[in-house]
Amino acid sequence: MTIHIGINNLRRHAESTNAAVREAVDRVLGSGWYILGRENDALEEEFASFCGANHCVGVANGTDAIELGLRALSVERGSRVVTVANAGYYTLTALSAIGAVPVFADVDETSRLMSIDHLGEIIAQGGIDAVVITHLFGLLHDMDAILRITEPAGVPVFEDCAQAHGASRTGRRAGSFGAAASFSFYPTKNLGALGDAGAVVTQSDDTARKVRQLRQYGWKSKYEVESPHARNSRLDEIQAAILRSKLPSLNDWNTRRREIATRYSTEIHHPRVSCPPVYGEEYVAHLYVIACDDRQSLRAHLSAMGIGTDVHYPIPDYRQLPLVGSFADFALPVTEKLAHRILTLPCYPELQDEEISHIIDSINRW
Ligand SMILES: *Cc1c(COP(=O)(O)O)cnc(C)c1O
Repeated sequence: MTIHIGINNLRRHAESTNAAVREAVDRVLGSGWYILGRENDALEEEFASFCGANHCVGVANGTDAIELGLRALSVERGSRVVTVANAGYYTLTALSAIGAVPVFADVDETSRLMSIDHLGEIIAQGGIDAVVITHLFGLLHDMDAILRITEPAGVPVFEDCAQAHGASRTGRRAGSFGAAASFSFYPTKNLGALGDAGAVVTQSDDTARKVRQLRQYGWKSKYEVESPHARNSRLDEIQAAILRSKLPSLNDWNTRRREIATRYSTEIHHPRVSCPPVYGEEYVAHLYVIACDDRQSLRAHLSAMGIGTDVHYPIPDYRQLPLVGSFADFALPVTEKLAHRILTLPCYPELQDEEISHIIDSINRW
């Protein structure tokens, strides 16, 4: 039998969740109510409680969640927002829609998360309106260290948790630290819908109220508009019900993902491949990303062994077409270096032990 291990396998995920998802969909079909109803309300309550936050507001996708969440924190045209450049242009899409100006910080070579030192330098220079922290690949950043820098300067921190559902440090989960946080429930995320879906999470009553207005025409109450710059970004009842049916399994899935990542980090021994450290609960292994000095050759070798890989992400944001020229003399050495070296291995709960062994052996024999 020829081996084929995809970078993801949503078909297996669908099989393992089939019964619960069908029940959820049936419930919505029978209810006669399809957008922002009881399922959404229940998901908002359950997911807020999962995150350890006071509020969750369901929206249409994770990018809207960043945009509407930042708008609720008073980020507007011309605002200067610190972000990293290695996270797939999602935050940049939101900033562009707002007309806010990105200020890029470099990343740490091991964690691949925003460099605390560089953030400190940028904040010290002043003129910053907000910071977006992306818990990339499922690794919750050291939020205490971040907040020690931003709080004295009065700069709000927004957490992009699209890859970090359930990651925790000292008992606190991703999304509970910042002024507000965004989640995506895109099908491949650690908690995924069967279509687009997202949420904003916050401890603040006022921020939650603003996002509720921004997701629905700026309505304060039905047909009475209060907020400018609003839109239609609502969550479907079917997606909310599906997410509710999966939420009770999320911790187990995250544990399995972490187990796979730990096997990779302890069993891959190749002089030219560097693996992330073995992490604890702060890592939910959304993506397992190694670094290698000859990525092309390793990718081709793994492909010949029937193993799918991907690169997250090959082009730093400031090199993407819409920004070319705007940051010409900008140098982020670690971001640049990693973009050429990183490679993502398959890492999802439905991966089987023999498949993981095959991937490890294939790398070790490269
Ligand atoms: C997936 C993702 C998003 C965007 O979410 P969508 O639901 O696709 O809009 C934002 N940030 C990060 C880090 C992501 O991985």
